[in-house]
Amino acid sequence: MADKGNSLTRRKERKEEVSAELTKDVQKMKDEGERAADNGEVPSAEAAASDAAVASSQDGDLQVEPMELPPFEIIQGDRIDPFAFKFQFKNVEYSSGRNKTFLCYLVDLGNTADGLLKGYLEDEHMGSHAEEAFFIQCIPNYDPSLRYTITWYVSSSPCSACAAKIAEVLKARKNIKLSIFAARLFEWEETEIQAGLKAMHDAGCKLRVMKPLDFSYTWDTFVENEEEPLNLWEDCKENYEYYQEKLADILQ
Ligand SMILES: [Zn+2]
Repeated sequence: MADKGNSLTRRKERKEEVSAELTKDVQKMKDEGERAADNGEVPSAEAAASDAAVASSQDGDLQVEPMELPPFEIIQGDRIDPFAFKFQFKNVEYSSGRNKTFLCYLVDLGNTADGLLKGYLEDEHMGSHAEEAFFIQCIPNYDPSLRYTITWYVSSSPCSACAAKIAEVLKARKNIKLSIFAARLFEWEETEIQAGLKAMHDAGCKLRVMKPLDFSYTWDTFVENEEEPLNLWEDCKENYEYYQEKLADILQ
């Protein structure tokens, strides 16, 4: 008994040591992060993303044929983690901490061997964007003789560079019909973003803000939901109406 007691005490002490180590590490990381932020060494992902968008839309060199992507920046999968979904798709007015785009897709190829493709992509704004990656990774063998009916459910609407790219793709490939349902509008107050959304709309893209029912549908279809229904957050409908009104103003 005495031995067992000792070993329990030892284990408990060891556990406390480990947890003290962890606390120190976390504090160290926090200190370093704060120092870096003070020195202005670490640009925020949002700032970097909008810089990239500006650079890309100013050079006017938007290719329909996508460039090569390093594969590790994009995660592709079948079903999203439920906690990630609830955070990333929440249609709050200010999207703080949400520096990535989740893109759920359905591709209907009619009566073909491939039939219906389904899955999701996830990116970091620092790297390649999910919208661009979609055309490379999800329909790599584009066939002009097929009809593509594509639906996206995205956590936020595209940045201006992606919007321009999408508009180019839709203009060049008339057999692609794209509908996009967005939980939030990304930086909708920016003139450049508004122009991008209009360009997509003019190129035939159906652009909508996700309604409460669309969140439930996306949860049922693309999330590891363990057969549980989605409990919609309190202001889901109000936030939808807010974004819906902004989008209608932009596209009118
Ligand atoms: Zn983008």
